[in-house]
Amino acid sequence: MASLLPATPQSTCEFRFYEELGEFLAPERRKRSFTHAFDGTPSVKDRIESLGVPHTEVDLILVDGEPVPFSHKLTGGERVAVYPMFERFELGESNRLRPTPLREPRFVLDVHLGRLASYLRLLGFDTLYRNDYHDDELLRISRAQHRILLTRDTGLLKRAAVTHGAFLHATDPRRQLREVLDRFQLDARIAPFTRCARCNGKVDLLVDAPDEHDPDRQPPEERDPSPGERERRDPGPGEPERRDPGHAPPERDPGSPPEIRDPGKPKPPKHGLASSAVPPRVLAGYGGSLSRCRDCGQIYWPGSHLTRLRQRLAEVGVSI
Ligand SMILES: [Zn+2]
Repeated sequence: MASLLPATPQSTCEFRFYEELGEFLAPERRKRSFTHAFDGTPSVKDRIESLGVPHTEVDLILVDGEPVPFSHKLTGGERVAVYPMFERFELGESNRLRPTPLREPRFVLDVHLGRLASYLRLLGFDTLYRNDYHDDELLRISRAQHRILLTRDTGLLKRAAVTHGAFLHATDPRRQLREVLDRFQLDARIAPFTRCARCNGKVDLLVDAPDEHDPDRQPPEERDPSPGERERRDPGPGEPERRDPGHAPPERDPGSPPEIRDPGKPKPPKHGLASSAVPPRVLAGYGGSLSRCRDCGQIYWPGSHLTRLRQRLAEVGVSI
């Protein structure tokens, strides 16, 4: 009778995950080899993800000492060693699993990474972020625009649609920034204050002042934000501004004067480059350097928080 026949015997192999890949495993499987049983002849990628490790985090797989692709089929009895993006020893480039590095790194961030998005934009990196992106939308944007998906959601990174993605181990936004810069080797590409922290648009220099490093220099006035905007614009002292780029207010009519709330006490800017939608001609007498976002019209100038921003970034090895 069929019910008395022995079940199809399972195959087993030995797995060992190295370095930070252990963080994705059950505690008893970290920093050691363990036996893993499976049915049939699954791909090594299938087994790695079933054990909890997103394929985006894996850079090299050795089966019995030989590098293999994700599609390699396991039949049983193999020793599988899995290495993360940052193994300490030198690897031959030809053995790596990653697709060709993206020439111009661009990012799309999940909804929990708003402060990291601001930091990346401040450093000049093309970064899409909205606080209402759905998972499918993130995947679609990542694929269609060849953007690296950054997230702390391992389930999202296990989706087959992800070709360029990265898990962020840190929870602190500046530590996350350091992780991204290291993983994609971006330090040499940092171009501070070339991109709008608010909407990701390119920022053009309108006025280049030779003596722009006076930290106390302020523009004459700053526009009074609308109540909704004010609510969105306080991520904390010294932190870069975070605003929902999907709801950027329209540019003011250049013919109307700026609204002035308290001319005697200009509001301190929220980050190193203060921002405002004051029309450039109003700021003409200010004398410092001014930049303007091509997309949303935001005006930026070096503000008193620039020193603090520099200090905070210096703590994670970023100099601007
Ligand atoms: Zn902008």
